[in-house]
Amino acid sequence: MSTRLLVIYLDYNATTPTDRRVVDAMIPIFTKHYGNPSSTHGSGADAADMIDDARDSVSILIDANMGDVIFTSGATESNNMAIVGFPGNPDRETRILYGATEHKSVIGPCQYMRGMGSDVVPVPVDSNGIIDIDVLAEELDNPTDLVSISLANGETGVINPIKEISKIVHDAGAILHSDITQAAGKIPISIHDMGIDIATCSSHKMYGPKGVGVFAASREIRKGMTPLVYGGGQENGLRSGTENAPGIVGFGLACEIAYRRMSEESARQHILRDNFETRLKSTIPDITINGEFAERLPNTSNIRINGALADAILVNTKNVEISSGSACSSSTMEPSHVLVAMGLDRTAADESIRISIGRNTTMKDIEVAVEDIAQAVQYVRKKEAEITERLT
Ligand code: PMP
Repeated sequence: MSTRLLVIYLDYNATTPTDRRVVDAMIPIFTKHYGNPSSTHGSGADAADMIDDARDSVSILIDANMGDVIFTSGATESNNMAIVGFPGNPDRETRILYGATEHKSVIGPCQYMRGMGSDVVPVPVDSNGIIDIDVLAEELDNPTDLVSISLANGETGVINPIKEISKIVHDAGAILHSDITQAAGKIPISIHDMGIDIATCSSHKMYGPKGVGVFAASREIRKGMTPLVYGGGQENGLRSGTENAPGIVGFGLACEIAYRRMSEESARQHILRDNFETRLKSTIPDITINGEFAERLPNTSNIRINGALADAILVNTKNVEISSGSACSSSTMEPSHVLVAMGLDRTAADESIRISIGRNTTMKDIEVAVEDIAQAVQYVRKKEAEITERLT
């Protein structure tokens, strides 16, 4: 295990620290209120009530009906449920569209469905990372069953015009699934107003515990879905298995805290992010911000640094933890599929870093981060120039 102390964490889109109050609220569920929520005795009923309270808190955060919230093990499971569990079309080949910059937990099940015989088509994004609405509309000329387009992208922070997308999708008679994982808790969400039929998200991106997520959809949609997990019929028959009561209770409290703090926190983080970008631009020559001209999450910055590979920058930053591309898939040698879909070539994608700010980030952290990244870039650019010179 790494022993890096006093390091500034700027990777909140990968995961967040669990809020201390959330941890404190979870502990009694392990030790005191440990009844099985499916048991009919008092302890079980208490646990079931607490889960329902958490369901209520999630539903307030995303403006869903409380009864439409199904708890899962995380957004990966929820996304798989939305896509693999979606009812196939009985009259023709099932057709699914998904955004080219979706998270791998959306793309993976889409590819699986293609293997199972569905017609599955990615929808491109423009150079800012926003879904190409014209292509989406054209693709919807072919009868389509499901469209999966996220609200906000975790790598760039780019926000899709989901209300407009939902209108086009609904006019074509299809259902809209939106992975709201990166947006939940950061920007106001009303799945009703936005016209999202199936919403999926995760607790650990909003200061809740890992291993808990949500699949939210109306009764009408849920009744057509096929579960991924069969058994005792928990969670309205859609997700069998004893509920992760401590995790769910923690998630509920995390949602309440996020709801209360959202406007103040997002304004604060917005200032920090803009300050970071302005400082970085004035300190390091020849950098561009990926998705700069789109509406973005207030906490995210994805920067292409010409002439310095992101992995080399990461190794040489001593004081900050940042990421190159998506942390969830950074063990792969592939360039970020998000940046490639936005039109960056392989080199430009490999030269891009992501910083994501969170509740514990201060202006001092931003100053230190800019200095640290600038030093690393200077060193890496010098080394890369030396190598190029030696090779020519
Ligand atoms: N969707 C998005 C947009 C994400 O950023 C992530 C996490 N990286 C996931 C889904 C998967 O979430 P989980 O870790 O809860 O499975």
